[in-house]
Amino acid sequence: MNIAQNIENIKAQLANTSAQLIAVTKTKPISDLEEAYQAGCKVFGENKVQEMVSKWEVLPKDISWHLIGHLQTNKVKYMASFVSLIHSVDSFKLLQEIDKQAQKHNRVIDCLLQIYIAQEDTKFGLSEEEAIAILTSSELAQLHNIRVVGLMGMASNTDNLEQIRLEFRGLKQLFNRFSQEYILPNTAWKEVSMGMSGDFQIAAEEGSTLVRVGSAIFGHR
Ligand SMILES: *Cc1c(COP(=O)(O)O)cnc(C)c1O
Repeated sequence: MNIAQNIENIKAQLANTSAQLIAVTKTKPISDLEEAYQAGCKVFGENKVQEMVSKWEVLPKDISWHLIGHLQTNKVKYMASFVSLIHSVDSFKLLQEIDKQAQKHNRVIDCLLQIYIAQEDTKFGLSEEEAIAILTSSELAQLHNIRVVGLMGMASNTDNLEQIRLEFRGLKQLFNRFSQEYILPNTAWKEVSMGMSGDFQIAAEEGSTLVRVGSAIFGHR
């Protein structure tokens, strides 16, 4: 695996799209992250809080850390001082906890609502109705230390590329509809996090702004 070469290839494929590359570094050793960093990649995604914290501690502080995996409320406090985007918010209770912990550090933490878009029942996420309930809740307006800046979704684990494309397209349409119907003007509503190693090109074509790519950079886990 040539990490630098892989990053260069992926960035070239994303060049004429609006997608930014998040290097998913879960399970990978520090030396791999350092190699990616040297290759110019400074946004890393991790799916476990503890692992992200221990990597954050030893690596340069100009790296942005994204939490992309399922998050339990009792773990938020460990990363509230530094996490830059949480992709996987799937309850209002979790948003309240993120707000509370962010406040302790005088920060505003950006969050995405994870939407359930796959034809499977193994993945976390909100239904459209649940997301609307959060976005329109009067309590949301009381949370001053978080910003909900967009949506995240994971496509079905299938070889059917047309199905994957339609799932991504649906998420992008939901993002657009929410911005017209529920998002106040001047709100930072800007991110659609979709696409992984197997489908990031499709996601980028369908309007992803953040692709989360692990194995295509670092090899199999
Ligand atoms: C692991 C993971 C990825 C990256 O998966 P790859 O197939 O290795 O690119 C993306 N998103 C989430 C939420 C993940 O947990």
